[in-house]
Amino acid sequence: MERKISEILGYKVDLLSFDEAIETITEKSTEKSTQTVTINPEMIALANENVVFSEILKNADLVIPDGVGIKIALKIQGIIQEQIPGIEFAKRLIEYCAKHSLPIALIGAKEEIVQNAAKNLKTEYTNLNVAYIRNGYFSENDERTIIDELKNVNPKLVLVALGVPKQEIFINKYKNEFFHTMFVGVGGSFDVWSGQVKRAPLLFRKIGCEWLWRLIKDPSRFNRMFPTLPLFLFKVIINKK
Ligand code: UDP
Repeated sequence: MERKISEILGYKVDLLSFDEAIETITEKSTEKSTQTVTINPEMIALANENVVFSEILKNADLVIPDGVGIKIALKIQGIIQEQIPGIEFAKRLIEYCAKHSLPIALIGAKEEIVQNAAKNLKTEYTNLNVAYIRNGYFSENDERTIIDELKNVNPKLVLVALGVPKQEIFINKYKNEFFHTMFVGVGGSFDVWSGQVKRAPLLFRKIGCEWLWRLIKDPSRFNRMFPTLPLFLFKVIINKK
């Protein structure tokens, strides 16, 4: 399938529907290992200060428009694009692996969280093979062992929840040691799947305001989000002009 992309402040974003995103990445991963990035304005702001992260975003195999800020930025450019929340995208890939009896791996979050997330996913998808589980609190010295153990189970899908940009850097460093594996950085998804953190009510999600819900629940996010989002949209408008 030909890749349809747009650029936001120099960063590629794939333009596709939810179904096309799944189809694209599962197809691409029959040829090589892939890295999917679920992009949002905070990541673009970070990439502008971090060359390594910036290159990773630019070279990802699929960049899905997570975050309402990306949807608005595309709209400013005259493009109507459905928002694809990373957590739902990852869930659909898990479903795909369960359906086709393909092993998956979960790396990241605290031990109890990742174990509970795996347990809940296995309850939801009875055929699911979670072949490897590792909490996200390890040092660089442990990485070699983790990757070797991971290779032994030959996973089709590796979900990495180490937060941004750690997860993207980790994936980029090791993905080429695998042949047909899909790698996705999933941020706080294991916290949600473990039952520890609740997602926003459907109404908030439907109107693209999950961020507002998270802000109400955790006002400390304000500092992180608020200079970033208006500044990001301002730059997108200026850039268009
Ligand atoms: N995390 C981890 N190792 C670390 C730092 C973070 O496993 O060294 C986990 C953390 O426990 C949480 C996730 O990474 O489950 C980060 O979630 P957050 O919502 O902060 O992700 P972001 O907003 O960065 O996408």
